Amino acid sequence: MSFKDTYTIRCTACSTKNKVPAEKTDAKAKCGKCGAHLETDTVFSGRSTMVSEQDFDTKVLKSPLPVLLYCWATWCATCKTTTPVIEEFARDSKGRVRVAKLNVDSSPMLSSKYNILSLPYILVFDNGQLQESFPGALPKHKIMMKMAQYI
Ligand SMILES: [Zn+2]
Repeated sequence: MSFKDTYTIRCTACSTKNKVPAEKTDAKAKCGKCGAHLETDTVFSGRSTMVSEQDFDTKVLKSPLPVLLYCWATWCATCKTTTPVIEEFARDSKGRVRVAKLNVDSSPMLSSKYNILSLPYILVFDNGQLQESFPGALPKHKIMMKMAQYI
């Protein structure tokens, strides 16, 4: 048990950021401000999660963690080499960043709303807001550097 391991989990009810020690990230964790249940169970997967237009609000806009939204398509050649880098980032940033994957062909409304004109492409969301966007074909350390400010 290490007390240095603290996770920052945003309350999905009142948007307050809660610092939760690693040993308290069980199902009983509650928001210090409003007492709502903190979604600690969904943030420690260490894997990317697929999102679509149906669950975009829940998984991205109401995420308890900052979100790296990786936009890709099956026909995108660069995506084939970038996807493993994104998965590696998801493992490395477990409990800090939610890594979400969006297939742009299956989600044309989101692609057009967020103006995704090239692939692969990364959008960063925090507290329900789009924070920035950048081409996804970056080495992992560059992605880490970009995401560090939201963690
Ligand atoms: Zn709260």
